[in-house]
Amino acid sequence: MDYDCIVIGGGHAGIEASLAVSRMGFSCLLITQNPDRIGVLSCNPAVGGLSKSNLVREVDALGGEMAKLTDKTMIQYRVLNRSRGPAVQAPRVQTDKHAYQAEARIALETQTGLSIFMDTVVDLMTIDDASGAAVSGVVTQRGHRISAKTVILASGTFMDGKIFIGEYDARQGRLGEEAAIGLGQNLRQRGFPVGRLKTGTPARVTSNSVNYSVMERQDGERAAPFTFDSSPETLAAVAARPQLPCWITYTCEATHDIIRRHIHRSPMFGGKIIGAGARYCPSIEDKVMRFPERTRHHVFVEPEGLTVNEVYLNGLSSSLPEDVQAEFLHSIKGLEEVVIVRPAYAVEYDYIDPVDLYPSLESKRLAGFFTAGQTNGTSGYEEAAAQGLMAGINAALKMRGLEPLVLTRAESYIGVLIDDLTTKGTKEPYRMFTSRAEHRLLLRHDTADTRLTPKARELSLISDERWERFQDKLRGLQQIQELIKGVKNPALLHFEDALTQFPELLSLPEEWVERVCLDIKYAGYIEKENRAAAKLAKIDAVKLPSTIDYSQVTGLSAEAKEKLKTIRPLTIGQASRIPGIRQGDIALLMILTRK
Ligand SMILES: Cc1cc2nc3c(=O)[nH]c(=O)nc-3n(C[C@H](O)[C@H](O)[C@H](O)COP(=O)(O)OP(=O)(O)OC[C@H]3O[C@@H](n4cnc5c(N)ncnc54)[C@H](O)[C@@H]3O)c2cc1C
Repeated sequence: MDYDCIVIGGGHAGIEASLAVSRMGFSCLLITQNPDRIGVLSCNPAVGGLSKSNLVREVDALGGEMAKLTDKTMIQYRVLNRSRGPAVQAPRVQTDKHAYQAEARIALETQTGLSIFMDTVVDLMTIDDASGAAVSGVVTQRGHRISAKTVILASGTFMDGKIFIGEYDARQGRLGEEAAIGLGQNLRQRGFPVGRLKTGTPARVTSNSVNYSVMERQDGERAAPFTFDSSPETLAAVAARPQLPCWITYTCEATHDIIRRHIHRSPMFGGKIIGAGARYCPSIEDKVMRFPERTRHHVFVEPEGLTVNEVYLNGLSSSLPEDVQAEFLHSIKGLEEVVIVRPAYAVEYDYIDPVDLYPSLESKRLAGFFTAGQTNGTSGYEEAAAQGLMAGINAALKMRGLEPLVLTRAESYIGVLIDDLTTKGTKEPYRMFTSRAEHRLLLRHDTADTRLTPKARELSLISDERWERFQDKLRGLQQIQELIKGVKNPALLHFEDALTQFPELLSLPEEWVERVCLDIKYAGYIEKENRAAAKLAKIDAVKLPSTIDYSQVTGLSAEAKEKLKTIRPLTIGQASRIPGIRQGDIALLMILTRK
């Protein structure tokens, strides 16, 4: 064998996957089309936000890299929903896109056991033996045949990618970057359920052509690290990061008129694009056509870095022709004179329907083959990183001959993400939302380390020094709890009051005190959630044997038979979450498992 594992693609999923595999002691080759494009933030260079920040912190708690890369490169820090409940508050960080790429590359290049190779994978190598089909390596465009025990596919928007700008289209995965041609077709031929999805991005314009004086200014706030592993050096580095403002302006009736007049030239509306797009992330032409009553839409003008003169026009994603883009941009207050550096465009690409995967992210039809990120029908850096990390961990666990790590919906957003994907599949780009997590009070971003770091330590993803710092924190939390428990009505104690009442707390990090105050304040709700989660855990513990022939189970509805045959759930809990499976079907399965 040439390598223990091959990871295909150096995007956010591939970065986490290859680091996890090599940190767990296996040799790993990351094959990517262009090493200079590792860690590109294809769309907005912002990390975190609602529910996505929970994913980033969970990735960090499990020993992943995304939070650290974000901390090192932040140019604006804000907490969204500060005035609302703790379960929906979320840090969001604008990063310097070039610095982010550079840091990602350093992380990979300094990792023992990890090599990078520039090529494009066009096919898989497989073997068939008594236990079924298994992956044995990859074939590349330049004709290399490289063997490995496991392969992780993280091809993002590149598998047979095609970009659209009005009448123009090209076989690219991102503007100016060649698509990865061949692999999608070969996977189709091997019987994988490969479909088409699409996403889009707005234009980038020169910062010095924007008239900021007529826009609303949005400043960042005092920065805090994303990573839980906040050594004094990290804290100092984050505090020293420069903070840039973002700016807000609006489209107007004139903008909407221009778009309506040219809508027939949009590849989306003209039917040129067949892939489904994300409803929650509509292009400006979608917004104008779907909500004709709206007289204006928000535009956030966001910096892309400290050294680039390009800014990102959040809210103006489009696939209209370039002349139309220029015309509608110039109708917007503050953008009257803007100079476009890169036009907005849409991209359509191949993805694999994730119901074809086990919850470990291993393929049901090809042992040792894992898929992660946009390839599995998701959208977003954080979703990609979370899957990449889990695919990496599970590929390594498989090579250790151990059971996979499957996180539950009650212990992590990662569990919600992967359970949703592998149980329900997706027909449009899937994005994480707070509302998808039924136990969101248990999944606050500030509790991710206590939920997950002990698991990562068992996997050897947490160093001795980090583990020691984590133990210190646990002792600190305990100490704070003891102090606060003693006050009258502890649930009413705000964390600022706690600091005044107990000056000894001033020597401990503020976020520890805040966290304990929240735990105490919401103790009743948390207890209730824990009970609900325990109920769910019971049915999730009942395993469904892989040998069940659902077509022979009398009493199951035809729809249930079909769905159970396709999805082959591993537990009664997973079966109960398949859309279309009824209470009666679950009762039958329960009887079957008892037999
Ligand atoms: C135009 C556009 C708009 C987007 N808009 C949004 C948005 O609005 N909101 C949002 O959350 N996300 C958006 N995204 C998505 C976001 O960029 C992705 O979700 C995220 O980057 C996915 O990470 P990934 O690791 O799965 O793949 P990517 O970041 O796409 O990385 C894939 C990598 O794999 C390499 N690769 C692919 N195939 C092969 C192969 N066969 N052999 C070797 N290397 C290969 C590619 O070169 C690339 O480096 C957008 C992306 C694009 C391109």
